[in-house]
Amino acid sequence: MCTPALTEAKQSSCGGTCGADCKRIALKAAAKQGTLLPAAPAAAETSRAAPIPTRSTPTLDEVTTFGAEGRRVMPHPTQARGPFTRARALSGVFLLALYLALPWIHIEGAPAVFLDVAQRRFHVFGVTFLSQDLWLAFFLISGLGFGLFAVTALWGRIWCGWACPLTVFLDVVRRVEGWLEGDGPARRLLAAAPPSLEKTLRRLAKQAVFGVLATVVAHGFLAYFVSLPKLFGMLRESPAAHPGAFLPVLGTTALLWFAFAWFREQFCIVLCPYGRLQSVLTDEHSLVIGYDSQRGEPRGGGRAADGPRGDCVDCAKCVQVCPTGIDIRQGLQLECIGCAACVDACDSVMHKLKRPAGLIRYDSLAGLNGGLNGGPRVFWRPRLALYAALMFAGITAASFALSTVRSAVVSVTRLPGAPYFVQGESVRNQFLLRIFNKLPSPGLFRIELDGPRPEGMELQGATGEQVPGWGEAKVTLVATAPIAQLHRQTTVQLLVKDEAGAVLARKPLTLIGPDQP
Ligand code: SF4
Ligand code: SF4
Repeated sequence: MCTPALTEAKQSSCGGTCGADCKRIALKAAAKQGTLLPAAPAAAETSRAAPIPTRSTPTLDEVTTFGAEGRRVMPHPTQARGPFTRARALSGVFLLALYLALPWIHIEGAPAVFLDVAQRRFHVFGVTFLSQDLWLAFFLISGLGFGLFAVTALWGRIWCGWACPLTVFLDVVRRVEGWLEGDGPARRLLAAAPPSLEKTLRRLAKQAVFGVLATVVAHGFLAYFVSLPKLFGMLRESPAAHPGAFLPVLGTTALLWFAFAWFREQFCIVLCPYGRLQSVLTDEHSLVIGYDSQRGEPRGGGRAADGPRGDCVDCAKCVQVCPTGIDIRQGLQLECIGCAACVDACDSVMHKLKRPAGLIRYDSLAGLNGGLNGGPRVFWRPRLALYAALMFAGITAASFALSTVRSAVVSVTRLPGAPYFVQGESVRNQFLLRIFNKLPSPGLFRIELDGPRPEGMELQGATGEQVPGWGEAKVTLVATAPIAQLHRQTTVQLLVKDEAGAVLARKPLTLIGPDQP
């Protein structure tokens, strides 16, 4: 039976079938949320005839969001309220603003993150990389990847629950759904209601808002690849004028809309590779969200025939708020994205019952079980030391590699055609020198020879070269030397320096001539 404090929670889990109070509260709650129930006598009649549909009870043997025939079952979670939900909402707003703002914030004359694929230039927080620099990404991605391993070993799915863009977007999507269709029980009721004009209008309004959200996010995503002036130019023109950008954005919008409208948490459960890795990255000392079964069981509230019950009153609020539709009381599960909604839900129940919070809490499995093998939670474990060592190795290698990145990329190639030309007593070799200025401002680059060289050798074209910001200069170098000095092949060193005299590149110039008798 429902206790007075838990009547509202109970009606969520039992569908209002256990007592008149639940039905009254269901009507009141739906009226507050502006759903169908109290709007007209006919709707109220419908609610009396059909109890609020509930989810099937989650078990460890099935994925709750799939039906018996493998059909999609939308979980319709109830909106949790509490400190973690508020903190996640705040961090979500900050992260959303950050994701959308990064292409607008300029560092060193370039957007903070701008992956200019067309020009093969990649601007990342003030550093410009060219396609030749992409080898650096190996160390950077390795370092960050092992960093994520270390974070997971320490704090479990903190990324999934708090920072993953999909989680952040889905939080917005569920709030929009809540405003348009009401909270979880009202949405389940609406989903089970027969077709009607109001239901159709609500559904259409919701899908329209999802479409707008998907379009905004897709264009925000496009801004990472196309400069903002170009993006605004595209928005003013017909899509036919730039199909190369329009089609990917259309595809991204469609995918996002599909994710917002239907796929949602299925991505975390069946597609995300990081989610699959969790089980091997965490151990009993990693921080997870878990249920304190020693304190909560036997669940049910009141007194059992064989003694007092645990603190869990079996109100199922933790299940109702779960966006992936699991029951965390059954233990740590792959579907748990660490959103902490169940922590807030259970803490609010404990607060009403005047019991200590934390029946469901952030803790390690060791802590939840009172210390595995009798021991407390261990911070430093071999796996954490290994991940941290690999992370530092990757970051150190990436930092060293980054320090080798210069403000210009220089290449020298022999001009096509004959490898050398004989003119009387001298031999001529021709090269193409390309200097790409990786800075946003124009720069003067000095070109000079260094070290030993054949006697009488001259190099035409080796002077200073003004190169525009993020621009390229092509210089034809003509090296002439007496034929007697070129013993088949001679290599000299070419230096390219910046205005301050710092050497940006040292390139070998191989001079060749005819075989000497
Ligand atoms: S069980 Fe996991 S996914 Fe479900 S509400 Fe709790 S923290 Fe979120
Ligand atoms: S764990 Fe908390 S929220 Fe979940 S059923 Fe028990 S008392 Fe209710």
